[in-house]
Amino acid sequence: MKVPLLDLKAQYTAIRDEILKVTEEVYESQQFILGSRVEDLEKQIAAYCATSYSLGVSSGTDALLIALMAAGIGYGDAVITSPYTFFASAGSIARTGARPVFVDIDPDTYNLSPGEVERTLASLPAEDRGRIKAIMPVHLYGQCADMEPIISIAEDRNLLIIEDAAQAIGAEYKGRRAGSFGEFGCFSFFPSKNLGAFGDGGIVTTGSEALYEKLKVLRAHGSKPKYYHKLIGGNFRLDALQAAIVSVKLTYLDQWSTSRKKNAQTYRRLFAAAGLDRIKIPVERESRHIYNQFVIHVPENRDGLRRHLQENQIGTEVYYPVPLHLQECFADLGYRKGDFPLSEAAAEHTLALPIYPELTDDQLSYVVDKIREFYSGGK
Ligand SMILES: *Cc1c(COP(=O)(O)O)cnc(C)c1O
Repeated sequence: MKVPLLDLKAQYTAIRDEILKVTEEVYESQQFILGSRVEDLEKQIAAYCATSYSLGVSSGTDALLIALMAAGIGYGDAVITSPYTFFASAGSIARTGARPVFVDIDPDTYNLSPGEVERTLASLPAEDRGRIKAIMPVHLYGQCADMEPIISIAEDRNLLIIEDAAQAIGAEYKGRRAGSFGEFGCFSFFPSKNLGAFGDGGIVTTGSEALYEKLKVLRAHGSKPKYYHKLIGGNFRLDALQAAIVSVKLTYLDQWSTSRKKNAQTYRRLFAAAGLDRIKIPVERESRHIYNQFVIHVPENRDGLRRHLQENQIGTEVYYPVPLHLQECFADLGYRKGDFPLSEAAAEHTLALPIYPELTDDQLSYVVDKIREFYSGGK
């Protein structure tokens, strides 16, 4: 049996007619960049995320970058984030000229630990602490970070919150949606995300009209009116084609999220039945985990397990093999191995299993069976 990590073709097949219809409308209109389809999507996403505004941009990475720029973050500033995330979280901070300050994760959710944020802030010399302007929590794998204490730290210390919600559209924390907690929520429409375009795309949510206006100006080289530049922005525009496709897919998102959750429950049952209790399966801390990924934590030989699954035609991925504080490009930040032991352990022991909505129960059983085989076969 074949179980790919993700099967976008299955999703496309189910919605092909609708996609072809809207893309053809875009071709006929010959309106390719921004315009009414992007504006429609912005309204739909703002409503979906329960925020007042949203602005379509060129990628999830650019969503983070433009949010940092709109927050006025740059040289001499610092931003707290997790070292256990996709590169873009810290990469975008560094690209503004600011310094990423890493803080270790909660070992159950792999999200930024609020207790560690507090400890880090308390241990920094006053001058360094004063440089910190924002916290960027990442809602990893589709589950929100523990936002209540993070918001309270941010309020106490007058810090902005920029949510990296690239993996978490529709996720909820205490009844509130990802992207509605901070000054900015940053989402990605990369094709493999839960709500994916047919190319690059992203969106920023905000509750502030002033910040929305600033984002809008920054999206088009900081010009307002055209050819008059008060700010230095960039080309962060979203295509009409991507917006039209994402709008169609958005109408299916809740249905897909429900199927992902159902698959996660099936995995839970199957892992329990197989007696695989040394493997840690995702801890559902929040009411609405959208399972962008289903990530297990294995006691030993993760890479051997991955090979075994591959030999049996099961796709997996390691998100992420090298925590960001140990990336070569961040060597000048001065971090060392051992600085964030929980992130380092996660990088060594975790493996993402297929969880996409169209999976069948037979496929899920097959995956768990092959994992059981690996750990009982003495491989
Ligand atoms: C995917 C992702 C991004 C970047 O999104 P792109 O659209 O690929 O630029 C940023 N942060 C996290 C956590 C992501 O998973």
